[in-house]
Amino acid sequence: MEVPGIGVIPADAVQEMIRTLGTTVTRALVDWHTGTILETGAATYRPTAAIRRHVLLRDQHCRFPGCERPAKFCDVDHVIPWPQGPTQPANLQCLCRHHHRAKHETRWQVTMTADGTSTWTSPSGREYTTHPGTLDVTADVHVTVGATVESDSLDADGAGQHPEPAD
Ligand SMILES: [Zn+2]
Repeated sequence: MEVPGIGVIPADAVQEMIRTLGTTVTRALVDWHTGTILETGAATYRPTAAIRRHVLLRDQHCRFPGCERPAKFCDVDHVIPWPQGPTQPANLQCLCRHHHRAKHETRWQVTMTADGTSTWTSPSGREYTTHPGTLDVTADVHVTVGATVESDSLDADGAGQHPEPAD
């Protein structure tokens, strides 16, 4: 293990540190000249719990065109296969098992932009765009509308309480 400014630490010493200090070692790619960390342990195949939660919340359903299978039943799939593509939300999407398999076993292709918009190209060359889910906030909207109406009428009643500032 190479530590910037210190040098190489033998593997058995690293293990000793982990054992005695309870330290967690994260894989990091460090620029040799500057010591700047270029990449951290997120550069693993498996998404962290936080990234996985982010993708599930963002997508809400399978991202294959027309599929509405809920995200909680989906796999989190790399749009560009790892390690060419990073394990980051902009390269991850929810796919149900059926469409996960279809992506890998058929000639469907997909690209994703940073905001999570996916463009799928069918084997015949036809393009489909799919978007992250929109939260169903129907219940919240009713509450908000009620509150807005109430505050509007309050504002109308109390219009004189906020005079324009005098020059
Ligand atoms: Zn699906």
